[in-house]
Amino acid sequence: MVSYQAYTKGNTKKPVTLEEWKDHKWQLTNSIKTISQFESFTGITFTEKECKQIEKTIHKFPLNITPYYASLIEKGNYRNDPIFKQAFPSPAELKISRYDMTDPLHEDKDSPTKGITHRYPDRVLFLVSNRCSMYCRHCTRKRKVGDPDHIPSKEQILQGIQYIKEHNQIRDVLLSGGDPLMLPDNYLDWILTELRKIPHVEVIRIGSRIPVVLPYRITDRLASMLKKHHPIWLNTHFNHPRELTHSAQEALRKLADAGIPLGNQSVLLAGVNDCPRIMRKLNQKLVQNRVRPYYLFQCDLSEGLSHFRTPIGKGIEIIESLVGHTSGFAVPTYVIDAPGGGGKIPVMPNYIISWSTNKVVLRNYEGIITTYKEPDSYEPIFCDRNCDDCVLQLKLEEADVRKTIGIERLLTDANDDISLVPNGNLRLERRTE
Ligand SMILES: *Cc1c(COP(=O)(O)O)cnc(C)c1O
Repeated sequence: MVSYQAYTKGNTKKPVTLEEWKDHKWQLTNSIKTISQFESFTGITFTEKECKQIEKTIHKFPLNITPYYASLIEKGNYRNDPIFKQAFPSPAELKISRYDMTDPLHEDKDSPTKGITHRYPDRVLFLVSNRCSMYCRHCTRKRKVGDPDHIPSKEQILQGIQYIKEHNQIRDVLLSGGDPLMLPDNYLDWILTELRKIPHVEVIRIGSRIPVVLPYRITDRLASMLKKHHPIWLNTHFNHPRELTHSAQEALRKLADAGIPLGNQSVLLAGVNDCPRIMRKLNQKLVQNRVRPYYLFQCDLSEGLSHFRTPIGKGIEIIESLVGHTSGFAVPTYVIDAPGGGGKIPVMPNYIISWSTNKVVLRNYEGIITTYKEPDSYEPIFCDRNCDDCVLQLKLEEADVRKTIGIERLLTDANDDISLVPNGNLRLERRTE
């Protein structure tokens, strides 16, 4: 591991003090952006041929690593190092396969106003910053991050807020980017204040990798600013247990002490964390630090990520090794973000083996096959969504009258639909001929 002292030695400029090292502004002004900066900081060297290929990659997908994150690389075996692989460009990023897309999740297509993606009925994704302190090599929004054309202006942010104001079904706003915590405290404070003025916004979420790559940004001042705007939730992005350093743990402690429920979204990455033992350790360390594992993502079909992809079977194998084996709250939901904007689809192992009207046959994590006896009598509740006449008592003043869609709609008695049919079904088209 390279310490800040080593940085001091390798640096011909003024030596850095521990105080400077722990100052997030120092970290940002001293970010590693070129191969030679990386070489002089870490002592790792590349051949001329390697440099050429890396340069080509950087030209397409820029390099940016905080000295803090780079200091976690273990130099001796850097080629297999999970920190190195997430931070340092690989020529493999230039391989674009047939199925790769620049915007696989259709975040731009599902955008009613610039910076907003409104995919789900009651919540929106709101991109408020395009800056990141570290450019993750596996970023799904590689196309946008750091690009001056995509910097959200104040005007654009106001338009996003206006959209949220005008749509009262939005009860959850998810701030992302880039990294929202790259914004100055007072600017973020302003955005949160504006969102809090909207009565139908119940919760605000922040998606940020800052606790992992620049933990010194989590200052007492930031935590107490965020605390003013509760309920605020924060999802971060740890992928490997080695990222949970003392500094990262300290950042998480500050956020948790400010009453912010913390979640983690990891991405399953070949050569980084595609291992049941690594994932178990990661999730156990997270809960030890009051972070609830939220999602484990299958790697997206974004351009330049093919070398990071694993088969879905690897994710199932990992979940199989967690459920039952460790605390239930240390198990994330494994999801595939559907290409084409279908949203997150949970894919978990199967536990139901078979069933009759009388019994369900299940298996547990140990492989024991067991049965659950269904109730002898169950009075089915006819549900036409006419809640006023129902024996069950919802009786909430503001209970939402919501249109049901999708599978939920098929399951209710509220309408006569018996199937969902994809557009362009030839058999049905023949009927109208
Ligand atoms: C992930 C995501 C959300 C939030 O989804 P949750 O399952 O509620 O965490 C909202 N909007 C978009 C576009 C997303 O990608």
